[in-house]
Amino acid sequence: MSEPLFPTTVIGSLPRPMWVRELIEDRKAGRISEDDAGPHLDRAVESAIELQERAGIEEITDGEWRRESYVKLFAERVRGFKADLLPSGGLPYPAVVEPLEYYRPLALEELAYIRPRTERRVKVTLPAPFIIGWRMWHPEHSKKAYPTRELLMEACVPILRQEVEQLRDAGADTVQLDEPWLAVLVDPAYCRDYGIDNSRKEMDRAVELVNQVVDGIDGISTGMHLCHAHFDRKHGAEGAYDPIMPSLHSARVDMVSLEYATPVAGGVDSLANFPDSVRLGFGCVDHCDRNVETPAAIIARVEEAMRHVDRSRIALHPDCGFAPSVQNPMDLDEAYLKLKAMAEAAVQLRDKYG
Ligand SMILES: [Zn+2]
Repeated sequence: MSEPLFPTTVIGSLPRPMWVRELIEDRKAGRISEDDAGPHLDRAVESAIELQERAGIEEITDGEWRRESYVKLFAERVRGFKADLLPSGGLPYPAVVEPLEYYRPLALEELAYIRPRTERRVKVTLPAPFIIGWRMWHPEHSKKAYPTRELLMEACVPILRQEVEQLRDAGADTVQLDEPWLAVLVDPAYCRDYGIDNSRKEMDRAVELVNQVVDGIDGISTGMHLCHAHFDRKHGAEGAYDPIMPSLHSARVDMVSLEYATPVAGGVDSLANFPDSVRLGFGCVDHCDRNVETPAAIIARVEEAMRHVDRSRIALHPDCGFAPSVQNPMDLDEAYLKLKAMAEAAVQLRDKYG
């Protein structure tokens, strides 16, 4: 069966209810064991599934409600990291201190729970090697394990490949590599802060590392998600995607997901150079804006994108996950209403263009 036009999906996370946020903090602090926290999180995930199904979304996740954050997941599950070593505003990051050891799966248990509980397509998200390198390598703490940041990135590849193959074998429909660090490179201020003078080289590296994770793995849809990084409704970077488009032409994933609802992404004109070889995941709902879009407003955004990309290659999703970390205070009902408006927009678009 061929997929409908304008299939709807999520980027990953839903805002976690306060009791789930507290539970994850308690688990991290050792006040509750991982085994004891599991059944409570199982019940929470049931409602994350239900929320997305009620909203009418065709491809869903488990809301990422078991994770402290989308990227720290890697450090939680792979040996070699030390928690909270790197200050980053109010959100400390782990740092790699020993060679990586993949001793248990990253997201296979998440999938095992959700897969038998929904008929919908299931997506699982994983952090991409480039952002792991930028977030969790530090010259002081990490040099002994990995003399350079790039060596850490390369060490992530075989681990992520193994994970993708296991997710495929366990019934995941889509795996999405989250690579916000690629999009923030459009912002010269961000590059300056991190001492990056050849951003094009770094963009190529980010794309190539994702390619290495998915190359030759069949039987699962693959995607890459880029965004401007956000916390508490504010973006960490801004700028149109034009500088990244040449690098995206080398991407060997099935879909590249970009934010276009937020004004910081500079509008759809950058899609003029979007590669023909991949599908467009079109961010059409602004997760940072409290106002819930109407289906008509979403349709207008999609029709703008259709000026540049054929409608048969466009999937709809919000700009980003609604709350990439447990500390991110977002509104669950607002996320539901935004997803519902997006699903309604997809129905109307199919009527019009199907
Ligand atoms: Zn994002």
